[in-house]
Order: sequence, then C-alpha cells, then structure tokens
Amino acid sequence: MELEKKLSAYGDVEINEPLAKHTTFRIGGNCAYFVYPKNQIALMRILDIAKNAGYPYKLFGKGSNLLCSDEEYHGIVICLDRYMNDFYFEEDGVCVAQAGCSIILLAHEAMKHSFSGLEFACGIPGTLGGAIFMNAGAYKASMSDILQSVLVQKDGECQWMEVDELEYGYRSSRFQREHDWIIVGAKLKLTKADQQEIRDLMDSRRKRRLDTQPLDKPSAGSMFRNPEDAFAWELIEKLGYRGKKIGGAMVSTKHPNFIINEDNASAKDIAALVDEIQRKVKEAYGIELHTEVERFNWKI
Ligand SMILES: Cc1cc2nc3c(=O)[nH]c(=O)nc-3n(C[C@H](O)[C@H](O)[C@H](O)COP(=O)(O)OP(=O)(O)OC[C@H]3O[C@@H](n4cnc5c(N)ncnc54)[C@H](O)[C@@H]3O)c2cc1C
Repeated sequence: MELEKKLSAYGDVEINEPLAKHTTFRIGGNCAYFVYPKNQIALMRILDIAKNAGYPYKLFGKGSNLLCSDEEYHGIVICLDRYMNDFYFEEDGVCVAQAGCSIILLAHEAMKHSFSGLEFACGIPGTLGGAIFMNAGAYKASMSDILQSVLVQKDGECQWMEVDELEYGYRSSRFQREHDWIIVGAKLKLTKADQQEIRDLMDSRRKRRLDTQPLDKPSAGSMFRNPEDAFAWELIEKLGYRGKKIGGAMVSTKHPNFIINEDNASAKDIAALVDEIQRKVKEAYGIELHTEVERFNWKI
C-alpha cells in the first residue's frame, strides 16, 4: 500500500497486473506494479523509489519482443508508452522523440513531413525505445542507420550519447548489456524526399507483411535471428516444422520464423517449441539459432 501510494504520485499504477495484457504474445504472469510515469522527472523518482524499496524493475515498450514467463514478477514494470511519447520534427530532417513514442506512428508522421528514413519501421509494432534497444530493422535497414544520438538515463543522470558509442550490430546494441541504462529519447536524422514515393514504399511494405506474416495471431515477430549465410525460416522449413505444435504454441504455417500463440499457449509451450527447434537445427545443420525475442522473468 505504502509503495503504491509513493508510485501513484508520479504516474498511473496498476497492481497485480497481468503482463499478458501488455505483450503482443498475450502471455505473461502478473507483475506486482505496472507503472506509467507521467514525465521524465517522474521516471527518475520512480527509479529512486524502486531502489529504496529494494524492488527490481523492468522497462517495457509495447512488449512486442518479449516472452514473459507465466510466473509472477515481484517487481515494477515501467512503461513509457502512455505519457512519454512526444515527438518533434525540425526543418532539416532532425526528428527528436521520446522513447515511448510508437515507431509506426513516427514513420507515418515522418512521411507526412516528407522525410525519408523510417519507411522500414512502418510495420514494427514497438516503441522508439524498444527499437533502439533491439536495433530493430527490416528490408536491410535498421534503427542505427538513422540514429544520431540517444538520451540515456544512467548512473543517476541523463546524458546524450552518440550512436558510435552504442556498439550497434545486427539486432544488437550496448543497451542489451547495460542493464541499468534507460532510453529516454532520441534524435534521428531523416532526409527530405518525395512524399508520394515514401507513401508508396510504406504501402508496398505493409502489403508484403500482410501477405507473408501471420498478423492475425499473437506473436512477437521473428523468433530467431538469422544466422550467418542462412535464413532462420528456411532452416525451420527444412526440418519440416511449419505448423508444428506444442501445447497452444505453433510454428506459423504462413511464416516459419514466427511462433504464434495459436490457442491459449503458456510461456512454457512457446519456450518448449523454441528449445526443440534450436536443438533440431543444431543436430541437423550444426547451426546455433539464437532468439531475437527476449525471455523476461524466467528462473534459469
Ligand atoms: C508482428 C510483429 C512484427 C515485427 N516485426 C519486426 C521487424 O520487422 N523488425 C524487428 O526488428 N522487429 C520486429 N518485431 C519485434 C519488435 O516489434 C521490435 O523488436 C520492437 O523494437 C520492440 O519494441 P517494444 O517497444 O515492443 O519493446 P519491448 O518488447 O517492450 O521491450 C524489448 C526490450 O527493450 C527494452 N526496452 C524497451 N524500452 C526501453 C527503454 N525506454 N529503455 C531501455 N530499455 C527499453 C525492454 O526492457 C526489453 O528488454 C515484430 C514484432 C511483431 C509482434
């Protein structure tokens, strides 16, 4: 009660909140506190309150790259997408945005301003913060191509970090190793282009996703990173695993690198299917498949 009161001063607080409501997999046990900070100062205070109370915390964007366990999380989930989602465009193509902003919305707003660079992101259902954390990408483009600098909350202060300090690689960034760093906002560099061309490119990419991805089912997008010189979906296809089921989890028949929550899957069902695919691919091809989707609140 005491903690709820303290947190409520700085944001909206849900108690015993099912994480299944906050992940695109629609899977996850309850968390003790789910908090939407009102602004940056509130975020800083919430971090202090968590620390003083001895509670662990975890940042959430839109939960579109997370497989949360079925267990309870005795901690505080901090979600930036409700309030910390402002964005601004400058005339020279600089876009400054808060981390909780939807990346799909940002791609559309960039198009309306006739700025090119975010077309690849128009079908990625996450926040700017989640995309910067993951180095989200598609069609041979990724966040690090357009990132100029990131506003990072770390060691009790907030500072701008340049993109070359952030160790970007394929679906990886320094944020994945620095567990206390919080992405508060970013500056992106976009380029002026013809608005109709940007719109057409976004439309064709959206159509391609609809044609090739199981967007009618809960998932977290591509489950595995592509290994060097191979496509994860092809390896899974060659195993004969298209449509393979464990419990309520299923390898999508439309796209074998998507594992979908077909029928009230538990996190354990999804994990069992992931583990089996990894084992079989290793046995058959000697290749280690690494997941793109992150497991959260799993006891190893
Ligand atoms: C249908 C579908 C299609 C997808 N297509 C693509 C695709 O084409 N390309 C691609 O790369 N991904 C894709 N994804 C995966 C996912 O959308 C991206 O990885 C996205 O960037 C995750 O953003 P999020 O806000 O949902 O992050 P979350 O899933 O909420 O969080 C992911 C990680 O980022 C951390 N994080 C989030 N915000 C912050 C912050 N402010 N500060 C510090 N850490 C933070 C979290 O703690 C967590 O570790 C797809 C997913 C789905 C469901």
